[in-house]
Amino acid sequence: MAMVIQSLLDHLRTRLTREGAMTVADFMGEALTHPASGYYMHGDPFGAPSAAGGDFITAPEISQMFGELLGIWCVDTWMRLGKPDPCLLVELGPGRGTLMADALRATRLVPGFHDALKVQLVEISPALRERQRESLGAHRITWLDNVGQIPEAPLLLVANEFFDALPVRQFEQTREGWAERVVVLDDAGKLTFALAAPSPANRVLIPATLRDAAKGSLVEICPAALNIAAFLGHRLARQPGAALIIDYGPAASTPGPTLQALRRHKRHDVLEAPGTADLTAHVDFQSLAQGATAAGCTAHGPVTQGTFLKALGIEVRAAQLAESAPRAAAALTAARKRLTDPTEMGELFKVLALTPRDMPPPAGFESLSPPLSSHGEGG
Ligand code: SAH
Repeated sequence: MAMVIQSLLDHLRTRLTREGAMTVADFMGEALTHPASGYYMHGDPFGAPSAAGGDFITAPEISQMFGELLGIWCVDTWMRLGKPDPCLLVELGPGRGTLMADALRATRLVPGFHDALKVQLVEISPALRERQRESLGAHRITWLDNVGQIPEAPLLLVANEFFDALPVRQFEQTREGWAERVVVLDDAGKLTFALAAPSPANRVLIPATLRDAAKGSLVEICPAALNIAAFLGHRLARQPGAALIIDYGPAASTPGPTLQALRRHKRHDVLEAPGTADLTAHVDFQSLAQGATAAGCTAHGPVTQGTFLKALGIEVRAAQLAESAPRAAAALTAARKRLTDPTEMGELFKVLALTPRDMPPPAGFESLSPPLSSHGEGG
């Protein structure tokens, strides 16, 4: 690990010596996905705080119920779409492959479903692809490098805690307008934050509702997330399908900063020892929904994860599992609570669904007021 830290730091210093400054998004991209020493590229960051460690834990790693319920959501949506065959089942950033394994196990008896599916995983990390291969050994899987490679076909897509790992740019409101926050080298050769000169061109990048935020406000935008939202919006305007995006962040665009580093379940300085800690930022669901709907689809939600999982029947599923394994009953109750309770993951985590324009709300979104199907508020 020491070599990894040194090599990524050396690489960043060389870049900064040459370029003077880099955006926070460039820094985040290098720290997470540099081919040799990026955080995701060389190991398995998942795990509970006790046991063998890990840096963070995600919903599918907390309980099998999460992936099972998402699998059932996929079957239900597939049926509402008229059982397209073939149908792509794509997951973005599958981590250990746990969600997909649970989803496929829970749906294996549904007539025709698995026969129609082509399972594809969008994963950048060779180490995690290997983990996914182990978890999903029994299934025919293909891997893609990026969303742009998803073939043109009916599509069910899920992404859990994928968008929070995509690089964000940060802008600060100054007296002279929006200035981009950048990473530079200080006199001692340490990485540090600085502000680039304000530019009127930055203003159009800021979500419309935040453009006139008070001086000193910091706003994060995620260009990669907006690109993917636009891709999905275009795709769902032409093909049957649905996408389910689950992540943490506010329903409406909100000033930050939210960029944080996590190592061994503890906050960590963002610029310290790049490559050794997970970096994430809150997902701006309003901007994602606007990007997708502007490209031609309908957005449903976001609803909170607690509302969504309850609507899909997590209570019934927990009771079923507890009946067949009474000794696990307490652990199942704890896991259900962790996933749904407002004081745990139930409220911070949101679920957004994207569908073609003429589709009624999918399972879990039925109780909502009319969907956001118009274009964003634009320039
Ligand atoms: N969905 C999993 C893992 C979340 S961690 C879970 O819920 O447990 C983020 C995942 O996205 C990892 O698998 C990581 O390697 C992958 N990832 C991060 N950036 C990526 C990118 N730019 N392209 C493709 N995959 C990426």
